[in-house]
Amino acid sequence: AAEEGFDPEEVEGALGEAGHGPLPVLAVVGRPNVGKSTLVNRIIGRREAVVEDRPGVTRDRVTYEAEWAGRRFKVVDTGGWEQDVLGIDASVAAQAEFAVEAADAVVFVVDATVGATDTDEAVVKLLRRAGKPVVLCANKVDGPSGEADAAYLWSLGLGEPHPVSALHGRGTGDMLDEVLKALPEAPEQSFGTPPGGPRRIALIGRPNVGKSSLLNKVAGEERVVVNELAGTTRDPVDELIELGGRTWKFVDTAGIRRRVHLQEGADYYASLRTAAALEKAEVAVVLVDVSEPISVQDQRIVTMAVEAGRAVVLAYNKWDTLDEERRFYLEREIERDLAQVRWAPRVNVSARTGRHMDKLVPAMDTALEGWETRVPTGRLNAFLGELVASHPHPVRGGKQPRILFGTQAGTRPPRFVLFASGFLEAGYRRFVERRLREEFGFEGTPVQISVRVRE
Ligand code: GDP
Ligand code: GDP
Repeated sequence: AAEEGFDPEEVEGALGEAGHGPLPVLAVVGRPNVGKSTLVNRIIGRREAVVEDRPGVTRDRVTYEAEWAGRRFKVVDTGGWEQDVLGIDASVAAQAEFAVEAADAVVFVVDATVGATDTDEAVVKLLRRAGKPVVLCANKVDGPSGEADAAYLWSLGLGEPHPVSALHGRGTGDMLDEVLKALPEAPEQSFGTPPGGPRRIALIGRPNVGKSSLLNKVAGEERVVVNELAGTTRDPVDELIELGGRTWKFVDTAGIRRRVHLQEGADYYASLRTAAALEKAEVAVVLVDVSEPISVQDQRIVTMAVEAGRAVVLAYNKWDTLDEERRFYLEREIERDLAQVRWAPRVNVSARTGRHMDKLVPAMDTALEGWETRVPTGRLNAFLGELVASHPHPVRGGKQPRILFGTQAGTRPPRFVLFASGFLEAGYRRFVERRLREEFGFEGTPVQISVRVRE
């Protein structure tokens, strides 16, 4: 009876919200104060989002979803860079470099009232070398009288300057039309990669946990099949590596291999890189350095992987450094600080000695399997029926909300929509998730549950 009134279209609607497909990526770069944040806010249609949390070295939210003329894409906000630490030129160059690696197209913002500066010229060189499509935004053209200022920017050699007032919205529509022409319809790295294509792995973790050591270890021992995929401008940084008899694609490895010469203030850069790698990956291998206490930054990176909805493997690296005492505290730290990913397969490795490198593949397989698990609706509802009968929701205000029906709305990661007769408390939702995991596995994958309340 619970199934009566269940409306597939409603489920579709719920799906649309939670679903994340492969979206092309747009980066907005330029000197400080040219109006990048204002423009990003304009593009994403929100006023507060970006400007609010500046200056944001520790900010980890760096991509936003936007839509124009019915097409969706991601906007990368490079505006939160800590300029004081890096110096303006270095910071702008780093932004541009990042944009070039991670984006499908770039909006280069110049302040038309100031004109092209040396820093602008330097960025143009970087952008040109990279060969990504660039749309030139001549910002702060608040009225017709500013159009002449914009025309001077032809001198940058980036083609037509698009006069825009990010503040008032003038000209942004025309500019976004150009942006759409520059963005690919769908990224090559489609989520719908046909079965049999190489699995995509993001190797992430805070600086010095051993990412490049690990990459060298696995690539070295198993031979690199293709170094630097030929002929693609989009992924000059992905590497195909053979592991356990299969080919895996490690995404965004250029940033791991290249020693980034930024010390303090590099957090934001690292965070951009992590977000970009996660965007492309199916499974995230999160490295944790066991020779040091687990830090807030480790937790933040784990959270990014979970929120990106990726399969997760935890690799505890530098295992060779452990002594009895450190080991004791490590287990307690894991218990306390990484409880949110208790479900992730764990490997204790040493990139230095090669310890347990062979455990990596089985762990990734387990996580990917959980990530793609689909529970048939009949089985799910038999399970939910029993759960509701044996552990009903507590009575609140004389009412007892009940789960009426559930369906798995999607995989990669598993997403569930529960229809309930009333609001389900957070504690009960967690309980349901825990029981779902006990019943169906989902090892190594986030599980998303949304609840629809029907009257
Ligand atoms: P960012 O450092 O490049 O992110 O620049 P912001 O977006 O923070 O803008 C810097 C300053 O320029 C702020 O005071 C904005 O209000 C101002 N600004 C941004 N866009 C425009 C514009 O189109 N016209 C005018 N007049 N001012 C703008
Ligand atoms: P990344 O910044 O995450 O790429 O880290 P690196 O691979 O550059 O490693 C940072 C430092 O940790 C280097 O000095 C490595 O030699 C060292 N390191 C990496 N893996 C291990 C390991 O398993 N054991 C030990 N003892 N040191 C390691």
